Amino acid sequence: MIQALALPRPLVRMQFRSVVVWAICGIFALHFLLIVFSLAHAGPVSRSCTGAIAALASISLLARLRLLPVRERATWFWAALGMLLWAVAHVVEIFLIAPAGTAGASNLSVDASDFIYVAAIFPLLMAFSTTRELQSQRVVFFFNCAQVLLACFLTYVLLYRMALAPTVAETVMGKVYGVACVLLAVMSVMRSFTWATQEERQCFHLISIFLWTYLPIELGMDYLTQYRGLQAGTVLDLAWNIPFAVTGWKALTLPLPEFDVMERDSAGRSELQHEVSRGRLLVECLCPLLMNAGIFALAAAVMRQHMLLGIGSLLVLLVIQGAQAAVIQMNYLAGRELLLEREQALRVANETLADLALMDPLTGIANRRRFTSALEAAWRLAVREGRTISLLAMDVDFFKGVNDHHGHPYGDSCLIHIARVLGKQAQRAGDLVARVGGEEFMLLLPETDGAGVAIVAESIHRAVDELALENHASPFQRILTVSIGVVSCGQCAPGPGEASSITPRRLIEAVDKALYQAKAEGRNRTVAATMG
Ligand code: GH3
Ligand code: MG
Ligand code: MG
Repeated sequence: MIQALALPRPLVRMQFRSVVVWAICGIFALHFLLIVFSLAHAGPVSRSCTGAIAALASISLLARLRLLPVRERATWFWAALGMLLWAVAHVVEIFLIAPAGTAGASNLSVDASDFIYVAAIFPLLMAFSTTRELQSQRVVFFFNCAQVLLACFLTYVLLYRMALAPTVAETVMGKVYGVACVLLAVMSVMRSFTWATQEERQCFHLISIFLWTYLPIELGMDYLTQYRGLQAGTVLDLAWNIPFAVTGWKALTLPLPEFDVMERDSAGRSELQHEVSRGRLLVECLCPLLMNAGIFALAAAVMRQHMLLGIGSLLVLLVIQGAQAAVIQMNYLAGRELLLEREQALRVANETLADLALMDPLTGIANRRRFTSALEAAWRLAVREGRTISLLAMDVDFFKGVNDHHGHPYGDSCLIHIARVLGKQAQRAGDLVARVGGEEFMLLLPETDGAGVAIVAESIHRAVDELALENHASPFQRILTVSIGVVSCGQCAPGPGEASSITPRRLIEAVDKALYQAKAEGRNRTVAATMG
């Protein structure tokens, strides 16, 4: 039982696919046999078989639609609806077709099935007339339905309420149908090349296969019926099955996207971003005119006898279009607002990230990266304007002992206190204090000479002493002390025609050396480096 429920989905789909394909083949064969053995009422039999195959084509399209993400379903829905209407038209025709022997009379006038045949065109036209992004919006889908209904209503009025002579009505219908089919076939090819995602392209590809197989059959059979007196129930009726059978079979056998829906989803999106060519945009943006042009033509034809009805229909079209445009604009503006908000949030996040990248997370002061670039900039300014610049390097004495005796959290809090002390010393604009290593700090002091930096070093010693942070490893009354190295570049500007021999790197090397010397001389002191 559990095993049966756990049947893998592809297998189920395979079974479904086989059932539909075999059903199509079976009906095809049955149709052939019934006609060959010239059964009575061969006309209705023919229509039922073709109707059944059209219905199976519609089911195949719906089965495929079910496997797609919601935003890609609309085109397939319209195509499936078109097929379904064709199937319905064939079934309706069964009841209208004259029995064998007297057949022919119904072919000369317009009947309900003819109306449904024409109506089947509109869902396909709708598929071509909406851009993909808009199709996924429910409200736009609703407006599209309204347009399809309006087109059907006008066709109904044109065929049944215009008191046209049966032959005239037949001609009008034939023209509408023929022109619409050719137009759709051309459009389907254009759209299959310009549509953005693989899945949508496939849908239009399928519709174009259907229309290009259907068109010659429709034109040929029309010619034979009108000029050669062809009647329903001959072996030629088998031809009607071909477009529907091919469409159904193709819908089931084209590669299915189900197992990589998520992947394809994002791939689809990126494809959309990269494939925005002018040609595609032009086709996509001009296509909405198609449905409007169709409705406009129908309304104009209706207007010849029912002026008010024609004008009323155009007004309804205007209202639908206006409302749709308003909704699209609202969505666009809301989307833009959202985009701006996100952009702002992104900018803030970027700034925060940039700050974080230059900040020491423990003490909140600058890190080595920021210090290096600040020194570089201050150095260039000092050289250009012939100003002095000083550096101070500081290392906490016996800090390993702080961690060992008092624990890491205490060590951390000592570092934070020391960073605060240093921050108070670097008050002038351009001064920068940075943590450049574990318990190593540096101060950049532009426009400060040797005497100035010595004073700063002295006040740091005093302030650290005042902190009186416990350090059992220290021989200096068991409180935390620091060693400092300083360097000052009195005249950074090179002489005329000379390159400055003192570089930021040399300054750092000199101050490090001074610090090392302070350590070597017993710690808790300041040593000044001399620059050559
Ligand atoms: P010296 O007087 O020669 O400078 O001795 P020292 O013990 O300070 O020498 P050393 O530079 O070898 O030790 C630095 C210690 O600082 C090693 C490491 O455990 C500690 N340290 C580095 N970064 C941090 C930190 O972020 N927090 C804490 N608590 N300790 C750190
Ligand atoms: Mg150290
Ligand atoms: Mg140290």
